[in-house]
Amino acid sequence: MGKLVGLYTDSEVVARDPRYIEALQREIGLNLVILGSGLKGGRYNLSPEVRALDPVARRGGGEPPGVQYGNDDSLLRLAIREAHRRGIRVWLLGAGWQYIGAERFPDMVSVDFSGRPVSETPEVPYAVEQYWLTFCPNHPELNEWFEAAFSDMARSYDVEGIDVTHYRYTAPAFFYGLFGCACPKCREAAEEMGYDFEGMRRGMTQLLDGLRRLDAGSVRHMARTGMGWTDLVQVLEEGVLNWFRFRAEVISRNLRRFRDAVHRATGGKVLFGGDAFPPSFAPLVGHLYRDLGESLDFVSPLLPHVEVFISSTWAAYAGLLCSWVPGLGEREALRSVYCLFGYGDMAGLPEAIEDLGVGGPDGEYRCLPLKDILVRELYKARAFISGVSYPVVKGRLWPPAVIRDAVESAEDMGHEGIIFQGTSGLVEYPGRT
Ligand SMILES: [Zn+2]
Repeated sequence: MGKLVGLYTDSEVVARDPRYIEALQREIGLNLVILGSGLKGGRYNLSPEVRALDPVARRGGGEPPGVQYGNDDSLLRLAIREAHRRGIRVWLLGAGWQYIGAERFPDMVSVDFSGRPVSETPEVPYAVEQYWLTFCPNHPELNEWFEAAFSDMARSYDVEGIDVTHYRYTAPAFFYGLFGCACPKCREAAEEMGYDFEGMRRGMTQLLDGLRRLDAGSVRHMARTGMGWTDLVQVLEEGVLNWFRFRAEVISRNLRRFRDAVHRATGGKVLFGGDAFPPSFAPLVGHLYRDLGESLDFVSPLLPHVEVFISSTWAAYAGLLCSWVPGLGEREALRSVYCLFGYGDMAGLPEAIEDLGVGGPDGEYRCLPLKDILVRELYKARAFISGVSYPVVKGRLWPPAVIRDAVESAEDMGHEGIIFQGTSGLVEYPGRT
């Protein structure tokens, strides 16, 4: 089999409309479907012992974290058979610590260094993912649940892989989310892993104070000199660098734990991989590409959400800088933020926050040099992943030329395949987006 060509879809589509899948096989060489566990017939029939571990059910109910389950999995089993009959591989999708409504569970939601749930921190304008918080990634009940659920799924269904998403902290535009999770369990984990928790707390507190005391001249200087990460690592407190390193290690060591459990459950037959935040921003959500490459059987750089992950971060950080620094203009604030993330040289980036189009459905391709951004992130991802890389791109909404260019660029750079969200920009098929 050549390069992998995958699609995020659901059991109902594959089981009830296999002609769509056949059309994609012919037109784009589809050879993998990733089936979600949403309402459309994809719920997993987990064993009673595993269901008993669901930490949300134990606390009175709600959607289980990451893996939805139910009693009737006939549609899921039919979808798996229909895909396999056509020579198409199947992965099952699971999600992670990021949970809509996490604030309803005070003993599990991420908290900052003062013990305040991150849901109670000030609103950050333009942070479109602010309300999609994370649970504590060191919470033992949660991690026991994820490990058991993924192992059960891998054992119970005839599939080739488990693919996970949302094993990260909230997107970095939600600036105050960067200060969590710092709960007692995380403190304990940090000390066990050899980190100086108090040093990290001090470093992050000083960072916040320092940012609020910046003057316009310094930010202008940052913008003029194109100051980026390599400059900042020379002046940031050790505790700050350790904090981001610690968060990433927490995520990768848990992913390794889940991967090893899935391998044990299936004699190594079922792969375990997951997606990764765009590389220029990844360290802020707890993703370090080298670690992910070593912790997963495949890594999928997640590029469809340019607005939520990228332009929202630029807009939010420029907005915060303007609110903290008297006399600072948006143009200079944005320029310094672009430089910080390695985008100082890119032509066509907006000079006013509103012009980034955050919050609009078409902002990412109407307001941004989308093609160039995708190529940059694809290059970095390829350079950073030592193992197998399957980037994810949109197969709809973006202009078809942008989609084609991203696919060809990924191929030229040596990524081992591509995974689509949607297909209407690739293939016309009635009723399918
Ligand atoms: Zn915690």
